Amino acid sequence: MNEAKLSLSGVVKRFGENIVLDGVSMDVSAGEMVCLIGPSGSGKSTLLRCMNGLEPVNDGAILLDGFDIAEPGIDLAPVRRRIGIVFQSFNLFPHMNAMDNVLLAPRRVLGKTGGEGLAAAEALFERFGLRDHMMKFPDQLSGGQQQRVAVIRALAMKPEIMLFDEITSALDPELVGEVLDALRALRDEGMTMVLATHEMGFARELADRVCFLDGGRIVEAASPDVLFSEPKEDRTRAFLRSVL
Ligand code: ADP
Ligand code: MG
Repeated sequence: MNEAKLSLSGVVKRFGENIVLDGVSMDVSAGEMVCLIGPSGSGKSTLLRCMNGLEPVNDGAILLDGFDIAEPGIDLAPVRRRIGIVFQSFNLFPHMNAMDNVLLAPRRVLGKTGGEGLAAAEALFERFGLRDHMMKFPDQLSGGQQQRVAVIRALAMKPEIMLFDEITSALDPELVGEVLDALRALRDEGMTMVLATHEMGFARELADRVCFLDGGRIVEAASPDVLFSEPKEDRTRAFLRSVL
């Protein structure tokens, strides 16, 4: 069976009277990189948060390897271990150096102590060009470096899927590239990824599929070539005109 890694169907999310996700259905295959684009308030962040159980949904199903993680009452701890998320704000603990930030969760949750977790973390710092910065505190790092540490911290849990919520939008423009490079490397290694982004050039270059959200719905989903060059929906065209 050719089953999606993550499969959403009819996901509805309300905050009070406000319908923020209005029946979202989408599949993410293993190794795929899907970009979510759309105006502010269209529901991108909420959708990502629902995908790893940070927000309960009001209706619909979210299947992770065929198992519904949107069922009320299921244990979400393993889900959050399998689906990592990185936010726009780096959320590093300021009183811990980069390495301790990265090792905190593996130590607590995976019970990794000493050598094993440390070697894996060092390899991640190396891979993302931060070998010389492992022992620095967040305020000694640039925004781009902090964001890469946040990515490393999520990867240290060995997730199967990574979610990224506009992780470059708080960065100075000259620091955006190094974070996008880290995402590119992850993609090339075959990580399954869903990104909310307003980096249209990046989405166009690297996404396998782009979903345009508006008003809590996926208005249009297509390969970047199709979505950026010949969008079918008026709302997609209007949005792209406003950002490109
Ligand atoms: P985007 O990431 O596309 O900008 P969001 O998912 O952040 O969109 O927000 C979608 C809508 O949901 C907005 O109208 C926002 O005000 C609302 N919203 C998001 N989070 C909450 C919350 N915790 N409580 C109430 N409303 C929320
Ligand atoms: Mg958002």
